[in-house]
Amino acid sequence: MDFTMQNLDGQIQNKNVQDRDKLDIKSLNLQELTEELAAQGEKAFRAKQMYEWMHGKLARSFDEMTNLSKPFREQCAERYQYTALRMLRMQESKLDGTRKFLFGLSDGNLVESVWMRYKHGNSVCISSQVGCRMGCRFCASTIDGLERSLAPSEMLDQIYAITRITGERVSNVVVMGIGEPMDNYENLIKFIRLLTDENGLHISQRNVTVSTCGIVPRMRQLAEEKLQITLALSLHATTDEKRKRLMPIANRYSIRELMETCRYYFDCTGRRITFEYSLVGGVNDTDEDARELIALAEPLCCHVNLIPVNPIKERDFVQSEAARIQAFKNKLERNKINVTIRREMGRDIDGACGQLRRKNLAEASLEDPAQAVTEGSAAPPVQEDV
Ligand code: SF4
Repeated sequence: MDFTMQNLDGQIQNKNVQDRDKLDIKSLNLQELTEELAAQGEKAFRAKQMYEWMHGKLARSFDEMTNLSKPFREQCAERYQYTALRMLRMQESKLDGTRKFLFGLSDGNLVESVWMRYKHGNSVCISSQVGCRMGCRFCASTIDGLERSLAPSEMLDQIYAITRITGERVSNVVVMGIGEPMDNYENLIKFIRLLTDENGLHISQRNVTVSTCGIVPRMRQLAEEKLQITLALSLHATTDEKRKRLMPIANRYSIRELMETCRYYFDCTGRRITFEYSLVGGVNDTDEDARELIALAEPLCCHVNLIPVNPIKERDFVQSEAARIQAFKNKLERNKINVTIRREMGRDIDGACGQLRRKNLAEASLEDPAQAVTEGSAAPPVQEDV
């Protein structure tokens, strides 16, 4: 990054910070957009055209909306906030092609997103907040706490930007990156409705997964929305005692309450729950843990996803041995529990959620910013509006 670029970035950032006080037009649904433009004297078809540009053609600015008149586009640019991301870094795994992105938001905050290619299609894991206040002990995203929640548009922008960069359709979306989605509930729901809207990318609700550390009232509320999405509960331990050691949220809601809520979610939506279970060596990977997990899973319609925990340098957790992971899985299978081991994608890049952002924040505090952006990156640094 040269000095001129830094100045330019500063100017762009200042403009965008001012813009944040304006109405965020990309977060409006079609009806809201129609009402908003009608209040400016515009006909309904204008709203349809603009919605199509934003959510179908993935326009990066009003400027690209070429079938709208120039004066109208200029008026919109003056009146509304149009969120866009800046790609700051991209790392690509040499092992499986997984790409991890570090995006800059309009106010200079950073989020991470991951693109993974599977046989059944491309999947993107997005962030829902800048940082997180949930304090899970095995997670790098929470170390500096919560900065702010993302707007629906900023969650969409991650998918839109990745679609443009890769040139490939995204078919699955997982809200499992930085942040606790249920701690940003209203924006999450708006995001899902926009993402799955037939006038936008029209991703099937069944291909959307939302994870939670277990905020019971929000899980119940989500059940009542009757969306066809998958709910993934980060369980990670089978007793309240153990769970409290890993996840502070366990001091608030017991495993019994969580299981009742999972049952409620299934009753309301008919959707099978996923239990996420990160295996931490010597902490939650014993035969006794497996027996307790079976007892929790058996009465529910659920699927258990075992995750070999990603070591992070700020924490002292280690991954379970491969043989232990397999033995744990076998035990569940023998008891007819539906179980998989999550394939470790992008192991050769900064795998664990929040690590790339933390690394960049740490590097940004170095004296030489140019040094900061290049050091340790698997791919050349980039500065690109996407
Ligand atoms: S695991 Fe999820 S909920 Fe827990 S601290 Fe990390 S981002 Fe937050």
